[in-house]
Amino acid sequence: MKKIDYKSEIIQPDIINELLDKKTDNSKIDDILNKALKLKGLNLEESAELLNVEDEQAAEKIFKAAKQLKEIIYGNRIVLFAPLYAANVCTNNCLYCGFRHDNTSIKRCVLTPDEVAEEAKAIMNLGHKRIVLLTGEDYKETGLDYLEECIQKIYEAKVFNGEIRRINVNIAPLSVDDFKRLNSFGIGTYQLFQETYNEDIYKYVHPSGKKSNYRWRLEAMDRALEAGLHDVGIGPLFGLSDYRFETLATLMHSHHLDAKFGVGPHTISVPRIEPAKGVTFSENPPEQISDFNFKKIVAVLRLSVPYTGLILSTREVPEMRKALCDLGVSQISAESKVNPGGYSVHKETDSQFTMSDNRTLDEVVKALLQDGYTPSFCTACYRKGRVGKDFMDLAKPGLIKQFCQPNAVSTLAEYLYDYASEETKETGLKFIEEQILNTDNPAIQSLLTDMIAKVAAGERDVYN
Ligand code: SAM
Ligand code: SF4
Repeated sequence: MKKIDYKSEIIQPDIINELLDKKTDNSKIDDILNKALKLKGLNLEESAELLNVEDEQAAEKIFKAAKQLKEIIYGNRIVLFAPLYAANVCTNNCLYCGFRHDNTSIKRCVLTPDEVAEEAKAIMNLGHKRIVLLTGEDYKETGLDYLEECIQKIYEAKVFNGEIRRINVNIAPLSVDDFKRLNSFGIGTYQLFQETYNEDIYKYVHPSGKKSNYRWRLEAMDRALEAGLHDVGIGPLFGLSDYRFETLATLMHSHHLDAKFGVGPHTISVPRIEPAKGVTFSENPPEQISDFNFKKIVAVLRLSVPYTGLILSTREVPEMRKALCDLGVSQISAESKVNPGGYSVHKETDSQFTMSDNRTLDEVVKALLQDGYTPSFCTACYRKGRVGKDFMDLAKPGLIKQFCQPNAVSTLAEYLYDYASEETKETGLKFIEEQILNTDNPAIQSLLTDMIAKVAAGERDVYN
């Protein structure tokens, strides 16, 4: 295969289709997995070989390697966050979404910035420190002046020992100048899902509104990085088109950003379409993804772009969330509400889609601990300026770990002292003791012991 010029075009469908037409050569799988385990990532051809695997035995090998790689790079940490929906008005008509303009069966609302701050306080009271702020696409009702005020009020809002320390944003694409303005609000990652990289299907499922312009959305991350944003998060919405095409296209998008800007996406999200009220399309999407293929997607992404965080939401049932955390997911949402006001001020508004994990944050934390994971509320990298290329430069030689593990454990300790049920607190404090004992680097062990002692003594926001 000839060398791919990633800089020239973001998505080159002919190349992707050519790779997908090839039958997997099972004798190559071991070599590809060995390369991935050297943490060098995979090229598109290698990722395609893995994605094309249908045989269960070969798939098991891929899963095993993904688990191994996940442990090497991310240890046992899982970062937790919650979504905050500010508004469900929308000028678009995405066929799959509960907020689509023509859906007359839902109540619409735009929270005032003060109500958004109330929602943020309710989220803090659960114990979260990190949110993703979302709206429908409506530049008049939820433009940048509105978002600026919301973000400022969220950062200013405080409850006992509670605050939001990182606001990621998932809103419609902007121009370079508007991205520059968004950047000045102090956001973490700018997330935007392409939904589908297949241009024909894209046009079919986005029949009207500004979102019907495929290229405006596809080029958004180039504009965001040009505007100076450091961390961007991409993702397809699985269920619209062939999952293998979408996964390879997502990787091609990553390689494009890496080639052009020297840094790939900070995160990739893996949402699957869920039923939404009043939207029949969402109940029977054209390309349902089986659980087996969904696991393969996550494992192949993990092996292909080892340093990119993988995000999973409460769209999935608890069992699937556990399986995907094992295979490569590094961030999950918990106790989410996907309706504006859902945490406190307008609990009656309608949700964007149906969720399948309705456990409380406390239950999710306890389950993670029981499965051997460190639930992390860490936001240190972004606040210490370890973002974009600087983050990747630390992550690639494995240096980021010396920061991550102590920060993860100390934010877990904060959560346990301030928000957890007695049972979770007991399980968690025992878990922390074991973590300290099992830390083999003496310098990190002593740092961790120190940080936990400070949190136990009442100090908060202890990070390095
Ligand atoms: N409205 C903006 C946009 O479309 O870019 C902001 C994001 S929207 C609130 C968040 C994401 O929800 C969309 O990008 C889409 O991928 C996802 N979504 C929409 N309908 C969904 C459904 N029925 N099931 C699962 N995810 C859905
Ligand atoms: Fe609007 Fe976003 Fe829903 Fe599309 S996905 S209808 S743009 S809220």
